[in-house]
Amino acid sequence: MSEIPYKIYLNESEMPKAWYNLRADMVHKPAPLLNPATLEPMTAQELGGVFCEELVKQELDDTTPYYEIPQEIRDFYKMYRPSPLVRAYCLEKKLQTPAKIYYKFEGNNTSGSHKLNSAIAQAYYAKKQGLKGVTTETGAGQWGTALSMACAYLGLDCKVFMVKVSYEQKPFRREVMRTYGASVTPSPSNETQVGRKILAEHPDTTGSLGCAISEAVEVAVTNPGYRYVLGSVLNQVLLHQSVIGLEAKMAMDKYGIKPDVIIGCAGGGSNLGGLIAPFMGEKLRGEADYRIVAVEPASCPSFTRGTFAYDFCDTGNICPLAKMYTLGSSFIPSANHAGGLRFHGMSTTLSQLYHDGFMEAVSVVQTDVFEAAQTFARVEGILPAPESSHAILAAMNEAIRCRESGEEKTILFGLTGTGYFDLVAYKQFNDGTMSDYIPTDEDLQVSISKLPKVDK
Ligand SMILES: *Cc1c(COP(=O)(O)O)cnc(C)c1O
Repeated sequence: MSEIPYKIYLNESEMPKAWYNLRADMVHKPAPLLNPATLEPMTAQELGGVFCEELVKQELDDTTPYYEIPQEIRDFYKMYRPSPLVRAYCLEKKLQTPAKIYYKFEGNNTSGSHKLNSAIAQAYYAKKQGLKGVTTETGAGQWGTALSMACAYLGLDCKVFMVKVSYEQKPFRREVMRTYGASVTPSPSNETQVGRKILAEHPDTTGSLGCAISEAVEVAVTNPGYRYVLGSVLNQVLLHQSVIGLEAKMAMDKYGIKPDVIIGCAGGGSNLGGLIAPFMGEKLRGEADYRIVAVEPASCPSFTRGTFAYDFCDTGNICPLAKMYTLGSSFIPSANHAGGLRFHGMSTTLSQLYHDGFMEAVSVVQTDVFEAAQTFARVEGILPAPESSHAILAAMNEAIRCRESGEEKTILFGLTGTGYFDLVAYKQFNDGTMSDYIPTDEDLQVSISKLPKVDK
C-alpha cells in the first residue's frame, strides 16, 4: 500500500450516485412523528401541508436502502464536492500520538458547512413541485446561508427566520444570505402569530431555534406556494447528508483504511448521521464494528442528560411530536453559550440508535472546545467552526489516550465547517472572557417536566 497522502480526493466520476438510507438496516426503526392533536402517526397527506411531497416520501420511508441522487443535484455537488478526507499528520505530530487521525472536511463552500448537501436537495424538490419558495429558521446562520445559495441557484424565493441573538452577533452572515437573495427576519418577530405570542410572554428573549422554527412553519402553511424546510434533525436530512459518509468510506477503502472510532458533533444529528451512515450500516448488518461517538455541548446536553420521549420540535408547539432525546422544547441554552449546537432535541434515528446501544455520547465544555479549535487552527491551518470543534476536542482526547496506552487506533472525525463568522466567540475566548455554564439538574427539570404526556 502506498503512503497515505495528506488529502485523499475522489474523482468526480467516483462521487456517490445514491444516498444511503440508514433506517433500512435498523431493526428497531425510529418512532414515527405524531400528530400533536390526535397522537396518531403523521400521514403523508398531513406532512404534505408543511413539507414538499418528495421529501415527505423520503421522511416516511424506513425500508428503501438507496435513493438515486438526481443528476441536477449531482451537478451542483460538483461545485464543491467531493470534499477532501484529510490525514491530520500535523495534529498527530503535535499530540505525539501513535493514533492516525483523519477528518472529512465539509467547510469548502461559501455557506461554510455541510448544510449545503441537504439545502440543494430540499430546494430541488421544492422547485420540482412547482413551488414559489421555502421558509426556514437558522441559528448560527450556516443553514440559512446554504439554503439561500441553493434557492438562488434554482430561482426560488427564500425566507429565513434567524435566531435574534445570532442576527445581532453575526450581521455579516445576514448580508451573505441577502446577497443570495433571501429575506432575513430576526426571531421572535412581530410577523407571525407565534412570534407575537412569544414576545408578549418573554419580551427580552434572545430567541431560540425552536421558536424560529415555529415562525417559519407558520409562514409556510399560511402562504400558498410555500413549504417549510429544515436543516437538521429530520430523516430526510440525514439521508442527504449520507453523501459525507459514503465519500469518506470510499476514500478510506481506496487506501485500505478502517476507522476504529468515528466522532462527530451533534446538534440535531445531521452531519453525524451522514458521516456514520455507511459505517453504521455495516455495524447494523453485523459486517464490521466501529465505535461511534456523538459530541455535544455541556450547556445543551440532549443525549447525555436528556430524556428519550416524545416532544415537540419547536417552542411554539405547532410541529409534530418526535420521539427523541430531548431537554424539553422550552429549554433555551444559557446566554453565554457561543458554540452552536443549541437545539433541544436530536434526530429520531440517532436517538433510537443511541437508545439501542449502537453509539456513545459525550459532552464537553466550550472553553475546552475553543482551546482545541485554537490548537487545530495553528497546526492544521483551517479555522474551524465552534460546532466542528466539539468533534476536534473529542478526537484529540482519544488520540491523547492512545499516546498513553500506546494504541495505534485510527480515528475519523467530521470537520463540518469553518468559523469565519464566529469571531465574536473567538474574541471572547482570546480575551479570556468566555465562561462555561453547565445547567443543573434542577434547570433541566424545569423544561423536562413540561414534556407532553404521550403514552408511546
Ligand atoms: C449546523 C451545524 C452543525 C450541527 O448540526 P447537525 O445537524 O448536528 O450536524 C455542526 N457543524 C456546523 C458547521 C454546522 O453548521
